[in-house]
Amino acid sequence: MKTVYWLQGGGCGGDTYSLLSSDFMDVSELFTTLDLKLLWHPSLCSIDPAAHERLLTDIASGTTPLDILMVEGSIIFGPAGTGMFDTFRGRAKKELCHTLASHARYVVAVGTCAAFGGFGAGHAIEATGLQFTKKKKGGALGREFVSGSGMPVINLAGCPCHHDVIAGALMAVASDVPLELDRFQRPLEWYNTMVHQGCTRNEYHEYRVEESDFGEMGCLFFHMGCAGPLVPGPCNKLLWNRHSSKPRAGVPCFGCTSPDFPKSNPFFHTPNIEGIPLELPKGVNRAHYMVYKGMAAEAAPERLKKRSAKV
Ligand code: SF4
Repeated sequence: MKTVYWLQGGGCGGDTYSLLSSDFMDVSELFTTLDLKLLWHPSLCSIDPAAHERLLTDIASGTTPLDILMVEGSIIFGPAGTGMFDTFRGRAKKELCHTLASHARYVVAVGTCAAFGGFGAGHAIEATGLQFTKKKKGGALGREFVSGSGMPVINLAGCPCHHDVIAGALMAVASDVPLELDRFQRPLEWYNTMVHQGCTRNEYHEYRVEESDFGEMGCLFFHMGCAGPLVPGPCNKLLWNRHSSKPRAGVPCFGCTSPDFPKSNPFFHTPNIEGIPLELPKGVNRAHYMVYKGMAAEAAPERLKKRSAKV
């Protein structure tokens, strides 16, 4: 039986909610099936404070092995590097994170705050991710950190992270299945394709049938701030609650799997010059793209221009 400790740092708890909404398997059943013992999760466990303190002492001394450390929320260093904005029984939680990580066989950052710092990075609370602050490697544990398995922190990006990604990563590390990571340490299994892939609005994107307001079926990339072609993630393939995704429901992808999420520009606006987005789909040549899009818009079928489709 392997052990799991879930540490909650500076965040909204949204990744826990995401995991709880997993519907292919009840969460407790997931842990049972994987033969995992959940030592602690702030919403799922109820050991008393003294027992919790003993547990931490036992992990720190090596008496209780820690196989998987899951961290949700950013690691907070404020004020002035002390970490005292986020404490556990009077001690900075960043120290607890360090102690637990140094004993864990795998360390998994659940969500963009834990992976890259998220909303609190660059602000007064001095939030960082476990091994990155935004795109800069280092973070709370340092750029050279590797856990007992030899792996760096596994970054399950997303705000929140998709529940199937959390469950899938747990399955992998519980079975010692090696996960291949990208340069921001996100597993390629879920982060090797763009959010754009699988969006039901792709045909509109192809013919540059654009929306500049809500409630229509066109593409949201050119005016409405959709980051679907810019960021990797499984949202349009795994779907949320097996049903939908932001762009499928008419809301632009906010790019929440990106290390620099959230950006300072408004979510519902595409930064552009003369109507041409500043950021183009990954790997695309700007000049070629604009020629192609101009021709595609000319060739757009009437059924798309009339938004004949209702779904
Ligand atoms: S709405 Fe976004 S994800 Fe969908 S096709 Fe347009 S750019 Fe791609």
